[in-house]
Order: sequence, then C-alpha cells, then structure tokens
Amino acid sequence: MISNFTNTFFPISSLAISIFICVLYFGRKNVKNKETKLYSILIICGLIESTYYVCLTFGVDLIYKDYMYSLFQYLNKVLGIIYLVWITLLFYYVVSIVSKNSNTLKKIKKILIFLTCIFSAIILVLPIEVWWDPKRYVSNSYGPSLNFLYTIFLVYLFVMFIITIINNKRKDLKGKFIPLYTLFVLIIISLIVRAFDPLFNITSNILSLVLLVMYHTIENPDLKMIEQLNLAKDQADKANRAKSDFLSSMSHEIRTPLNAIVGFSQALADEDLTEEAKEEVDDIIMASNSLLEIVNGILDISKIESEKLEIVNSEYEFQEVFDDLVALTKARMKDAPVDFRYHLDSSIPNVLYGDHTRIKQIILNLLTNAVKYTKQGYIDFTVSSIIKNDICRLIVSVEDSGIGIKEENISKLFDKFERLDLEKNITIEGTGLGLAITKKLVELMNGKIVVQSIYGKGSKFTVAIDQRITQKDHLEKKDEKIEVKNIDVSNKRVLIVDDNKLNLKVASHLLQGYNIITEEVESGFLCYDKISQGSTYDLIFLDDMMPKMSGVETLKKLKTINGFNTPVVVLTANAIVGMKDKYLKDGFDDYLAKPINKDELYKVIAKYLS
Ligand code: ADP
Repeated sequence: MISNFTNTFFPISSLAISIFICVLYFGRKNVKNKETKLYSILIICGLIESTYYVCLTFGVDLIYKDYMYSLFQYLNKVLGIIYLVWITLLFYYVVSIVSKNSNTLKKIKKILIFLTCIFSAIILVLPIEVWWDPKRYVSNSYGPSLNFLYTIFLVYLFVMFIITIINNKRKDLKGKFIPLYTLFVLIIISLIVRAFDPLFNITSNILSLVLLVMYHTIENPDLKMIEQLNLAKDQADKANRAKSDFLSSMSHEIRTPLNAIVGFSQALADEDLTEEAKEEVDDIIMASNSLLEIVNGILDISKIESEKLEIVNSEYEFQEVFDDLVALTKARMKDAPVDFRYHLDSSIPNVLYGDHTRIKQIILNLLTNAVKYTKQGYIDFTVSSIIKNDICRLIVSVEDSGIGIKEENISKLFDKFERLDLEKNITIEGTGLGLAITKKLVELMNGKIVVQSIYGKGSKFTVAIDQRITQKDHLEKKDEKIEVKNIDVSNKRVLIVDDNKLNLKVASHLLQGYNIITEEVESGFLCYDKISQGSTYDLIFLDDMMPKMSGVETLKKLKTINGFNTPVVVLTANAIVGMKDKYLKDGFDDYLAKPINKDELYKVIAKYLS
C-alpha cells in the first residue's frame, strides 16, 4: 500500500501542479504577447501530459492484459510524442526570447513543426517495450522508440544550454533562463535516481515544476492591478485638475474686483488729495499689487502642476533682460541701506535663444527674495557663462548678506507654501510660492538650482541654465519704447468690451482721463453688431473670458467683416506669464492685463491713438 502511494504520488502531484498553474494563469487577465502566448500553449501541453500520465498509471491495471499489450505500447508512444511536443515548444520559447527577428522566428517555427511531425512518425514507427508491475503500481517502457525520443530531448537540451551560455550576460533577459537551469538540474537528478531504480519516473513532475518556475519569470504584469492603478491615477489626476481649475478660476475672479480697486485708486491718486489721503491711496495700490503677486503665483503653480506650462523659446537680447532685472531690483530696494552690486560677464553673446520670460521670472524671484530678506549689507548679482559649441550655460548667482537660512530648513526651501523661520519673517510679505515656482521652472528648462546659506550671515542662490547661441549680435526692435507724456489723444473713439460692468467702468474712467470718447458693450455679440452696422473706432479693448462668445472668438468674427482694420487690444485677467505671446498669436494687436497698470495703458494709448 505504501509503495503504491509513493508511486502514484508523483503522477498525481504533477497533475495537481499543472492544474494549479492553469488556474493561476488563466484565472487572471494576462497581457497578450508572444511570450505569454507560448507559455499558455506550454502549460496546456503540460496539463495534457500530466492528465494523460495519471490516466495511464491508473488505467494500466485494466488494460495490461496480454491481448491489450499492443494498445499499451501505442499509448506509451503517444506519451513520448507529448514529451517531444513539450520540449520543442520550450525550445521555441527560448529561441523567441533570445531573437527578436520575426522573420527568422517564422522560419524556425516552420522547421520545428516539420521536424516534430517527422520525429513523431519515427516514434510511432519504432518498436517499444513496456513492462508493468501491478504490485508497485509502476510501469516501465524502453526500446528504440524511446531511445530516439531521449536523443532528440538531449539535442534540444544541449542547444538550449549553449544558447543560455551565449546570452548569459544580456541584461534584458535577466532571470529568463532560470526555468532552463531548473530543468537541467532536475534532469540530472532524475537520471541519477533512475540509475538506481529504473522504475522511478519523475519526468512529468520535472515538466510541471519547470512551468511553475517559468510562471514567475515570464513578462506578465498583473493587468487587474495595472487597471486599478490606472483608475486611481485617473482619479488623482481628475482631483488635481479640479484643484488647479478651482485655483485658476478663483484667481481670475479675484482679479476682477482687484481691477476695480487698482483702477479707481490710481484714478484717485491723480486727484487733488490731502497729503494723508494720498498716502492712503498709495498704500491701497501697494496692497493690491501684493495681492496681485499672490494671485499670479497661485496661477503659475497651478499651471505648472497641471502640466499646462510650456517653455516658449525665442531669440532675445540678454543685456536687455539683465538691465530690466537690475532696474526692477533697484526700484524694489528703494532707499534700503543695502549695497546692490551687479556684474554681467562680457563674453555672454548678446542674442540668445531660450524662454526669456521664464528666465527673467526665475532671476527676479531670487533678487526679490534677496531684497526682502536683507536689511543691510549687500546684494551681489552676477551672471557668468560657460560656452561650449552653440550652447551658452548661464550661471546666475544672487548672493546677499541677509538673515540666512537654518541648515535644517534648506531641504524645505523649494516646497510650495513653505515659509521658513516665521518668527523672524512674520513681517515680511510672502506666500512661500516663489521658490517652488522657481525650482519647477528651472527644471522645466533642464537647469539646476543650488543654495548655500549661513544662518544669520546670508545666502547664495546659484542657477545654471543652458541657452542656445544664435549667430546674431542684435535683434530688430519691434517695440521701441514710447515717450508718452505729451500726447494728445482727445476725442479719439474707443470701444470697450467686457461682460463685467465694474471693469467697463474702470477702463472708461481711466481712458476718460485722457479725454478719450468711450463706448461700452457687455458682450462679443454686441461688439460685432456695432462694427458690422458701421460704427467706427480708433481702438477696441476686448475682454477674453466672456460667456457664450470669448474675446478670441469675437476677434475672429470681427476679422471677417469687410474692411475691418481697427487695432484690437485684449484686456484680460488671464494674465499669467506667457499669455501675451498666446494672445498675439491669436491675432490681437496688443495685450493689457487686468488690473490695468497705468503705465502700460499709457503705452498702448500712445502707440495706437497718437
Ligand atoms: P516667500 O514668498 O515666502 O518669499 P519663497 O518660496 O520665495 O516664498 O521663499 C520661501 C522661504 O525661503 C521664505 O519664506 C524665506 O524664509 C526663505 N528664503 C528665501 N530666500 C531667502 C533669502 N535670500 N534669504 C533668507 N531666506 C530666504
């Protein structure tokens, strides 16, 4: 009984493993590729083999009669053919993971099918002897048919062994040969065992164990898990998009009342006011400008996070950018007892190709911080370069003798909404967005930013960004600075289009200050009606974000009117960096951001009305 158990254990366990692999593999969604297709054929072949072997083991008692001997022989030959098919499939699997050439693989496949047919016929034709021991529940088969099968088996094993040796170092095949090594080792063990007891047959177990090992080495990611992960990612993306949309629409909504505050206080500042009232109006303007900076920061970061921010490259003059930065910083410093030193490396080519608006934003953030966090001493602004072929690596450093940053805070410096050392900085305005935006912009341009700081002594921010060198020395100026003080624009006619009454009021109030005649309409439709009915204007200010028909759509319609050539300036709260270029591309003649900056308004009026 015990010996019966040990001898039936192997076929049954082999069948159990085969069923287990099939359930494991077919019970889940699988990727469809050449490797998994071959693997599924292999495991089906393995299942057929082990089922057949179990039936043969248990059924032999019934058929092992003298008159059934030839049937038993025949059944054993069929088992031999199944082994042959299995090893051929494994061989083809190994060849297909090693070679990626589909034409070669097709040829090999045809040859293997042909060879398998021939070999199967030979196995069927050659004689076989079988022997059955009912006491031990075990059979043995031998003879030329099986010798031929073993020879084929060994040839395939030998070629596969050579293939594994040759491709052993290939990184893309890492782990793929483990089932083969398992096969080699188990076959050696089986041969040793059979040398002692020829009736001890574990071939079926070897095949199923190899397939089990292979289950873990084939490329078969868990599709269900991938689907769930994708779903979770989609949801997170949606939530992030909703947050960004909320932030940008909220910032946009803030701009409208802000436009009224800035506009009216600027108009008020020009009136005859008492000294005290004048100071208060200036404070209102300053506070509104700070609020505007915050709103712009939020718009920028939400745009970066929703990956909508693009780097727009064009040719620009670096000296001009540098001069602007110096002027802006000096203006910001006012009369602070801080020595502002600046130096521009003269070897930097004047005309560079890159996103100058973003470069300016990055450097201005660093300079603004230096001004904010330095009460006395110096601020050192240096731009140097390393030139290699047609690339100029700009190395910008902003060093200050300000409050410095604690070592433990340096790692948090670039996190958004992170303000450090609040007990000292509480009186300094800021949101903690500046450096987060700066770092993201630098990374978008494949640059690097580093910080060195000694708490209480000062900080140094260094940025390195590559820009392309063009062959030009200067660029043609499209937009010369206009002296706007003494212009006469009285009685010029301007149409203002905005869906918000308050915005209309602010704009017309500012324009009327120049004796300009203004008309206001509240939609793109009304604007189109007016122009198409023959009303003429010297200039149109057109809001973009209007319900039903946007400014861009209105402009498109206006351009279809015969003879229409009035300059159209977009007047929009959609004022994040980069929008100007977009609107100019859309066909607007110029761009004015809300809240309306008085100087910018002067420039536009001077350009189109004087
Ligand atoms: P904020 O709007 O608060 O200035 P930033 O992102 O620009 O936001 O800076 C984040 C924090 O890093 C600041 O709150 C400040 O504590 C610190 N910091 C930035 N620049 C400097 C500097 N030059 N010197 C000292 N501390 C700085």
